[in-house]
Amino acid sequence: MVSEFDLIANYFTRPTRHTKLGVGDDAALISPAHGMELAISVDMLVAGTHFFHDTDAYNLGWKSLAVNVSDMAAMGANPKWTTLAIALPEINELWLSEFSRGFFACAEAFNIDLIGGDTTRGPLTISVQIMGEIPTGKAIKRSGAEAGDDIWVSGTLGSPALALAHLQGKVAIAESALPACLDALHTPMPRTALGLSLRDIANSCIDISDGLLADLGHILEASNLGAQLNLDQLPCHDFLRERLGDPAFQQYPLAGGDDYELVFTAPESQREKISQLSKQLNLPLSLIGETTKYLGLKVNYKNKTLAISKRGFDHFG
Ligand code: ADP
Ligand code: MG
Repeated sequence: MVSEFDLIANYFTRPTRHTKLGVGDDAALISPAHGMELAISVDMLVAGTHFFHDTDAYNLGWKSLAVNVSDMAAMGANPKWTTLAIALPEINELWLSEFSRGFFACAEAFNIDLIGGDTTRGPLTISVQIMGEIPTGKAIKRSGAEAGDDIWVSGTLGSPALALAHLQGKVAIAESALPACLDALHTPMPRTALGLSLRDIANSCIDISDGLLADLGHILEASNLGAQLNLDQLPCHDFLRERLGDPAFQQYPLAGGDDYELVFTAPESQREKISQLSKQLNLPLSLIGETTKYLGLKVNYKNKTLAISKRGFDHFG
């Protein structure tokens, strides 16, 4: 029988890079650099609610850390430390080794130390906490948007939700578009470098986990503003772009979620800097609308306004 301690030693203990004391003691010790404050966030993923029970363990390991890294990016924080609390229904070493491989692949990609956690028996649940550094006072908050700000979004939107609908048999994605959409769903790439650069550019920022409209809605609410968006300008995979005239497909980029792209607002005076940043990071940054002092969220498509309900996207029929 493998003990809990063997599991921790085998699957959750790796050398650390910027930690005083990591896994193995009653608490970990870290010291943020001088002039920095800590950004802290936690996310819980429950099997059957947030992911399918049979989700590939490597992908699950990657994604459970990546969604937290994305929260750091949205604040303009540099992710450095993480803790992992995991409940396992049984000890399946093949599953554990794949999960840990995916988790550490993400940790290495973003230079993050796993510094502690908890391992227990129970319905499969994964709770990841993350801590990052921000120069004091430099965090990008939801509440900083100003009327007339440009609204920007990184990468493409809608592919993960489209992939999920495909797996559920609700749509059929063309063979040529499927790998890109599945990758976006299973191994999202948090926009850390973008978030760090936005500290001096953006007035507000959020990462898209629940869908563009819902998450942009949080910025608008916190900043007491409205917005208008142009659906024509939303960056989408070609497969989706070609179908954007079809109301059944409009929901994917607008309300699909799981994108883990950043939506941010910035004054018009930052346009040149933002397009340079896009080239420098080799990451598309699209101008998709503007904030307004009038409350409410208007989405235009080919000079027509779509009906959007408060709860999210409504097919306009
Ligand atoms: P305690 O009972 O004192 O809380 P544990 O036996 O739960 O300690 O854990 C022993 C050590 O292993 C601690 O340093 C803890 O942070 C770490 N640890 C436990 N589970 C995990 C995990 N899933 N990932 C990383 N570290 C873990
Ligand atoms: Mg414990």
